[in-house]
Amino acid sequence: MANLKLSHIYKVYENGHKAVNDFNIDIEDKEFIVFVGPSGCGKSTTLRMIAGLEEITAGDLFIGDTLVNDMEPKDRDIAMVFQNYALYPHMTVYDNMAFGLKNKHMPNDQIRDRVLEAARILDIEDYLERKPKAMSGGQRQRVALGRAIVRNPKVFLLDEPLSNLDAKLRAQMRTEITKLHKKLQTTFIYVTHDQVEAMTMGTRIVVMKLGYVQQIDTPLNLYNKPRNKFVAGFIGTPQMNFFDVTLLRHGDSVTVTFDDGKHFEVPFETISKAHASYLDGSKTVILGVRPEHLSIVEEDTGIQAKVNVVEQLGNESIVYGQLALDAEIDLKAKNQVTIKIPAGINYELGSVINIKVDTDRIHLFDKESELTLLEDVPQYTSVEAKVGKTGKFELLGSKVELPEHFKNVLGGANELEVQIPPYACIDEGKDYKLPVKKVEEFGKVRLVGLQLGDNYVYLQTEKDVKVGDSFSFSLRNETLRLLVNGETVLEPVAERESLLGTFVKEKEKVSFVKAGNELIEAKGDEPSDAKIVTKPRIKFYYNIDNVKFASPMEKVVKITTIEGPSCYRKQYKFVLDRDNIHLCEEGLGLHAVVDSIVNYGNVRYAKLNINGQFILLEVNEEFNAKEVNVNFDGNDVEVFQIEIDMRIC
Ligand code: ADP
Repeated sequence: MANLKLSHIYKVYENGHKAVNDFNIDIEDKEFIVFVGPSGCGKSTTLRMIAGLEEITAGDLFIGDTLVNDMEPKDRDIAMVFQNYALYPHMTVYDNMAFGLKNKHMPNDQIRDRVLEAARILDIEDYLERKPKAMSGGQRQRVALGRAIVRNPKVFLLDEPLSNLDAKLRAQMRTEITKLHKKLQTTFIYVTHDQVEAMTMGTRIVVMKLGYVQQIDTPLNLYNKPRNKFVAGFIGTPQMNFFDVTLLRHGDSVTVTFDDGKHFEVPFETISKAHASYLDGSKTVILGVRPEHLSIVEEDTGIQAKVNVVEQLGNESIVYGQLALDAEIDLKAKNQVTIKIPAGINYELGSVINIKVDTDRIHLFDKESELTLLEDVPQYTSVEAKVGKTGKFELLGSKVELPEHFKNVLGGANELEVQIPPYACIDEGKDYKLPVKKVEEFGKVRLVGLQLGDNYVYLQTEKDVKVGDSFSFSLRNETLRLLVNGETVLEPVAERESLLGTFVKEKEKVSFVKAGNELIEAKGDEPSDAKIVTKPRIKFYYNIDNVKFASPMEKVVKITTIEGPSCYRKQYKFVLDRDNIHLCEEGLGLHAVVDSIVNYGNVRYAKLNINGQFILLEVNEEFNAKEVNVNFDGNDVEVFQIEIDMRIC
């Protein structure tokens, strides 16, 4: 039994192929985690890194509390089951299962107990004397599972274990593996390209594409709340329908219009989290509807389709049609539509049907980024704001002081768009006051939907609020994005700063005091008769603008092993939290010229110019220096490889 933690895991193969990018997951004890995605997305590579069969390029892998990056596979207390079973053909089932234990010199009677117990669990007790070739695929796979079970591992890793079996046996083995997981009460990690396996077996599923994790979630959340079009299309059979549409809001309703002019209505409430800019009819977005959320009705719904194929599956039927009524049947043409209907209903090919959309179950995706427009916690709310005649900032129905920095970036403009992220909310503040229309909880996040005219403003709060309350708050101005005529004039302040530099090693002479047989580093205040010896020592630094910041040994080891000797010849990006940057005495740290003071009202920054690299340092009201020196702790710096954008440590 064990939990696992994968922290910023990368795999770059020797040919330079980056197969896994920044993989992060905390797997709890007894979870059944499935890695799923199309061939080549990096599932097996990740599993093999966990097994220890593939070296981890960067990142930390913990099994339990132990960092296992450099631990031999045999010492990791895991068992792996492969697609091709990997049984020894000349050995009996019993010997195949006992083999690993014999190698570990376990006493024979204990081996016997374990093998018999595993055989009982897997229902292969009658086959123990057979050789693998006299067994079916399903039975062989059970032996492979048995060989894993007898080792009593903390973690089971299964790499496409069912892909050599026929459909019926797969379905049966699926249930058996799920039962086995319940019985063994152990962590399972299972790799498959088959979304049905993933959905039926996993407690949580990791969907991957081209080396990147797309979403980690429960099967139901993946089905109901896919984060992007890829996940939406990958999960569910038949596949979700996708159409190019525009959205036009009028009051409580939104008209969804297909590119051929057909349209239907959706209550605004169901898509209120889509930003207002998507709802003015000007942008093409992607509508996603699962076949089971479409139905065929008698009445005219405004969406007609011509039936191309009907597949009768017995328990249900699948109707394939096309929205273009006058075009020839063309199964590849745009605007194909797939509808799942109850069994027993048939439609003539070429007949015209009326389609009804279950508007509660629609999905919307941005056309370019393909990300959902309907996130539980939206990225931001977009609102209009004004600078009034008296110079006040008119936002969210209140008039507040215009932050000095806003004034600078706005120039003379007095009408703007403000994008407010949910985390901009300052609960204690009193600048704004709006009525609470909705309160939602998502994990640890409490989201309030505040009423602003006929729109919602979504903010995150810690306050105990209820619908109908009047909610007062202020905004962290530095988190807002300002746009004038659709162009960004002010980006939100990044939460962290980054600086470019190099990694260097230096030999230095260190004085030691001899105390008996031991050498103790000299402090400089030793008595004159002390025996001092000097020895060379190598120290490692981050070099930024010719100033050296000591690198902790743990990071030195990572940088030098991951990067090899070339680590001293490259530039790296050093990323640090802003509150790790402090003012220090002249002559120490980095010298910076104060370029300007950036005043957001609630917070004030000095924009520092460090020989051409700019960072923001939080400063108080009194700060008015022209030049400063700043320092940071090298222990709390993350190091990124720039060329392949990889976090090293
Ligand atoms: P999956 O299990 O999702 O099908 P893999 O993890 O096997 O994918 O592979 C991920 C990517 O890494 C693929 O593009 C594959 O071609 C590549 N790859 C796998 N092994 C190696 C290797 N030894 N050298 C270089 N590239 C590899």
